Amino acid sequence: MNPQRALPESGADEASLERLRALLRVPTMSHLDDAEVDWAAFDRFGALVDELYPLLHGALERELVAGHTLLYRWRGASATAGDGPVSILMAHYDVVAAADEGWQHPPFDAVLTGSGADRVLWGRGTLDDKGSVVGILEAVERSLAAGHTPENDVYLLFGHDEETNGTGAEAAAALFAERGIRIGLVLDEVGAVVEKLFPTVDVPIAVVGVSEKGTTSFTLTVEQEGGHASTPPRDTATNRLARAIVRLSKRPFRARINDVTATMIRTVGAHGRGPLKFVFTRVGVFRPLLVAVFARMSVETAAIVRTTTAVTQLSGSLAANALAERAQAVVNVRIAIGSTVDGTRRHLERAIADPLVRVEAISANEPAAVSEMSGPRWDLLAGTITSAYPTAVVTPYVQTGATDSRQFAPLSRNVYRFSPFEMSSDERATLHAKNERIHVATWFTGIRFFETLLRRL
Ligand SMILES: [Zn+2]
Repeated sequence: MNPQRALPESGADEASLERLRALLRVPTMSHLDDAEVDWAAFDRFGALVDELYPLLHGALERELVAGHTLLYRWRGASATAGDGPVSILMAHYDVVAAADEGWQHPPFDAVLTGSGADRVLWGRGTLDDKGSVVGILEAVERSLAAGHTPENDVYLLFGHDEETNGTGAEAAAALFAERGIRIGLVLDEVGAVVEKLFPTVDVPIAVVGVSEKGTTSFTLTVEQEGGHASTPPRDTATNRLARAIVRLSKRPFRARINDVTATMIRTVGAHGRGPLKFVFTRVGVFRPLLVAVFARMSVETAAIVRTTTAVTQLSGSLAANALAERAQAVVNVRIAIGSTVDGTRRHLERAIADPLVRVEAISANEPAAVSEMSGPRWDLLAGTITSAYPTAVVTPYVQTGATDSRQFAPLSRNVYRFSPFEMSSDERATLHAKNERIHVATWFTGIRFFETLLRRL
């Protein structure tokens, strides 16, 4: 490699890094209660994007959706551009709230530490998800500077409330449907380049979400006449609720390996060693064994093979000496693909087996339709990942958390969830937690991933 050529490139990367830091410093924190949101920060973020990316600002049309979601349209070069199929690059610029306490470096200071391969950028949003937002912005700006125009329209969609209600993405999806825009490819956050996913597999794995579990909450409610706690009946509302929760924990949903997971096991397992490789690559034969192993191996693998339930909130009486007239639990459920909200409710009712415990869905999201795991658009994405991470093995998987992209699952057969960054398990653990950070080198690689992708759209 010619070092003189490498110099200006790294200079460009350093300027990119400064823009990322500037955007990380804008505290676009989401809160469930709209009144707590500092909307001025969101306005500032949008204005700063215009200022930092002049070519993008000049060439792309911008529209605000649902107040603060940013939707950009980059018109394609072909005569049929506009008739589609279009591509949508998604990310979100709201971040999970963070206070300084417990952080090694304040969450909105965008502090850099280390050097070379150990250079790390600290801050809320580095991984989730401004790293992607700014990576996309950088790639578009560089493409424009190089005189590139995509064949078909490319949209950039940056949600403002992914971490809470997802109204921005929902409204945007409705807009695309209403305008009758044909959607080819949708790329959103979450999947990443990871290591040590499976025992004996040493190569990095690029996991691309082709679906996501349904995120739904149910309430379990028991109502009863109140009274003084000094003269309790044999069975109180709280007892009954507690019994229901225990029964639920004793009857988990059936574990199974769906087709996406089977493909993942086969694809990743082929790079393993010894007897495990033998088992992984023969999923069909060893399915029952693999189901049992996955259900026990770790909380992550257990979440892959079944619908999970977690009782997250409990409420009862307001006073220590009064019986609860209403005892209630909230069960957060992640519904496996192949199942439904209604089927899940029926399972809860059967497991609880008590007609006095009322089961109701308070937010109902079905699992997302499964996108294609082969074909031209899958190949395009997988090929682009491999060009950025040559040693990585690309595999589909089912994302266990929810993303904004689920809104587009009914509109396209090719909705993928992948953030083009290497993330260690330590780094992944900082998502929604303290000390969120990204390695600078992988962020630079991520920009090149988006640049290459844009060249191919
Ligand atoms: Zn996110």
